[in-house]
Amino acid sequence: MKKKRRFSGGRFTFLVLPDDGGPSVRFRASTLLLAAIPILILALAATASTLYLLQERSEWKMDRLHQQIALSSGSYKSEIAFKDASIRQLQKQMVEFAQQAEDVQSRLDQLDKLASAMQSFVGFDAPGGKTNAEDGVGGELFAATDNDYRQLIDGMDEKYASLDARIGELKEALTRTHTEVQKKKQQLRTTPTFWPTYSQRISSPFGVRIDPFTSNPAKHTGIDIAGSFGDPVFAAADGTVAETGFNSARGNYVLIRHKQGLSTKYMHLSSISVTAGDVLKQGDDIGLIGSTGRSTGPHLHFEVLEHDVPVDPKPYLNMAMKGMPTDVQVLEKRQD
Ligand SMILES: [Zn+2]
Repeated sequence: MKKKRRFSGGRFTFLVLPDDGGPSVRFRASTLLLAAIPILILALAATASTLYLLQERSEWKMDRLHQQIALSSGSYKSEIAFKDASIRQLQKQMVEFAQQAEDVQSRLDQLDKLASAMQSFVGFDAPGGKTNAEDGVGGELFAATDNDYRQLIDGMDEKYASLDARIGELKEALTRTHTEVQKKKQQLRTTPTFWPTYSQRISSPFGVRIDPFTSNPAKHTGIDIAGSFGDPVFAAADGTVAETGFNSARGNYVLIRHKQGLSTKYMHLSSISVTAGDVLKQGDDIGLIGSTGRSTGPHLHFEVLEHDVPVDPKPYLNMAMKGMPTDVQVLEKRQD
């Protein structure tokens, strides 16, 4: 291909002659157009390089964004891991709190029972204690679900509310019991309820019996408690010594006056350690067991009198702590 150029008044004509002798092709262009071509080329090059730079920049920005996303996703991951750990810790604590509430409830049950026992001891009834507290644990392992935890929270709310109410009730019941116990204690102290010696073996009851001397029926005005020579004899209630002395029937004897027209007599003593006018506390020593007077062996003849009329002492003695041995009563008395 040949290119021919000729000048023609500010215009150029380009002639293209094919080598194989085919028809020629002619192009005409003004000098202005020719001058514009390099400018156009330069403009194109500038546009291309600008586009290239822009693309480079946006790629760099994308890379940066990717890096930033990777960084933040890493920090989110560690934050989520930390929160997961915190949630697990809270769930564990929640379960522990629920178990503690169970423990407190079972202790309250025991306190309830104790309060009921104390209340029936002093003579008034209270609602019976509830039971729970199961021993022994085990079973299959299942992961707790969110629903389980929600139920646990709901249950805990109820449990703590009921614990609060029960503590209030128990406090009230115990305060009432304490007052009753104090009253009962005072009442027991001023009535002849204290077993008057160590031995609790009654060798002869109150009432009509065959007299050991005459072998005929006769009224026995007290109870005989078989004991050993020298065993201590105790005042059966708070009171004042009204009389002490000796006669052939009673032997060495003591008479004590108590409140509400009550008095007690102690006979056949080997020795007496009080004198008329002494003010005594329940359980104070008044003498020793002997066999003086009308007696076949060492024993204490013990009488309870209501306005000077002898009555069976057993109901009075039974008012005291049932089944509690005398030495425990003595110990309690001495700890007061
Ligand atoms: Zn007797």
